[in-house]
Amino acid sequence: MSIEALVSLSRYYGSRPEYVVAGGGNTSFKDASRLFIKSSGIALAGICAGDFVQMDRAALSQIGERSYPLDAAEREAAVLADLLAARTAGEAAKRPSVETLVHDLLPFAYVVHTHPALVNGLTCSCSGEESARTLFGDRVLWIPWIHPGYALAQGVKKALSVYRAAKGPPPAILLLQNHGVFVGADSAEGIHAAYQALMDTLRACIREEPDPGEPVSSYGASGDIAGVLRELARKTAPPGSASFQVCFERNPIIRRFVRDAPSFAPLASPLTPDHIVYAGSDPLFIPVQPQAGPDWVAHLQEAWEQHLDKTGRLPKIAAVQGLGIFGIGTGEKAARRALELFKDALKVTVYAQAFGGVCGMCRDGIHFISTWEVEQYRSRVADIPREKHAEEQGGLCHEVVSAYPGAGTSL
Ligand SMILES: [Zn+2]
Repeated sequence: MSIEALVSLSRYYGSRPEYVVAGGGNTSFKDASRLFIKSSGIALAGICAGDFVQMDRAALSQIGERSYPLDAAEREAAVLADLLAARTAGEAAKRPSVETLVHDLLPFAYVVHTHPALVNGLTCSCSGEESARTLFGDRVLWIPWIHPGYALAQGVKKALSVYRAAKGPPPAILLLQNHGVFVGADSAEGIHAAYQALMDTLRACIREEPDPGEPVSSYGASGDIAGVLRELARKTAPPGSASFQVCFERNPIIRRFVRDAPSFAPLASPLTPDHIVYAGSDPLFIPVQPQAGPDWVAHLQEAWEQHLDKTGRLPKIAAVQGLGIFGIGTGEKAARRALELFKDALKVTVYAQAFGGVCGMCRDGIHFISTWEVEQYRSRVADIPREKHAEEQGGLCHEVVSAYPGAGTSL
């Protein structure tokens, strides 16, 4: 048993952008009676032993046996209460990761769950399941889209039991459609070996590496447009919202996707829950590069208002044709994170070409994530410093802090 090994595994994967972007993913260690799982909202890259929550496995397995309300919101609230009650004594100040139940189900001492762009090129593709079967056979278990949290845990439980009955002990790798991968092993070396085999096999299929080239943070009218977007966000956000920041990027891949509306079309719908949580579910595409002069301000304003009318939310991403992409958020960190996650979606889209093209999340899944309190908590916690997070852990668990109007994707 080694929490130290769990910390170093977590830091290893958390500090590599090919596995983890913007603090996503979670890790765990278990013995017969206890599960140590990452606290929600803590980034793996700088995690410490004290950032893991100790859970009672007997209490966790009872959650899997209990019946819950059919209504998704009521069910998730009831499960969350039971999950919090499954913390061992002295752990009340920490909130376990939303995927705790899945970690508990996997029969491995160590589990490392990440959302690598390369793996999601497969899980977010049109022929993902078929390609996974061809490439890996029974060495992976494909889990079709299921809402994260309790529903996912129940789906995984059923899939593991079907696999066990037909084929024996489950494989070390679970591929989750439009989400990411769970890798399990009884040693850190086993985790590394399974990830290596997975990534090597996928990389051999890739037709094109989405090399971002040299990024540019200012180009043409980008500075002026950022100012207008910041002002539009300020004017249309509810009174009392934190101040908005806007950041810009242009690189060779971005240029390709903002060439025109058809080029941007694959990105109009989010690919994974993380893309929704941090970059929003409705990127705004503004056709025609605005030229200097009074007209482009009106053009941006019109596009912004149409977007608000259509979606009921402020965009976290605005793409301007021929120019580049703007991340919009309450604060510099949130704006940068929106941009990072959107660039991740670009990479996934390029990788997915090798597997029949990209396939976004279903409408039902988008709606679920957009309104899920647990994800709002994760997004919210990622924006506050660690010391403040520790102070607020107990009191803010159920607070939903929304800077944006309408239900859903709040920062
Ligand atoms: Zn995940």
